[in-house]
Amino acid sequence: MQFCDDCGSLMHADGDEMVCSSCGARVPKDRERAAQFVSTEKQTFDDVIESSEEAADEGLPSTEATCEECGHDRAWYTIKQTASADEPPTRFFKCQECGHRWRGYN
Ligand SMILES: [Zn+2]
Ligand SMILES: [Zn+2]
Repeated sequence: MQFCDDCGSLMHADGDEMVCSSCGARVPKDRERAAQFVSTEKQTFDDVIESSEEAADEGLPSTEATCEECGHDRAWYTIKQTASADEPPTRFFKCQECGHRWRGYN
């Protein structure tokens, strides 16, 4: 599940690209992120990150976390209860340096 950066509409796969069904914007498909979409959770990784991103990255709390893409040691994070209530919440990180996003469990 991926949403258009320009208009927020749902995007669909077209070969090696993701195409916006509304405005036609195209972005290259990220294989690593696509793998994370294989999930039984109701909220996908991008659902959570995209919805919190509107509040501006600087508004999010930051923490010490090492980015696997660039090695930067600070990342913004947001905590979401994505599974059933008796499971620990999931933390979603976004690198302050390169914008790489990943998820972590407490
Ligand atoms: Zn669009
Ligand atoms: Zn990074």
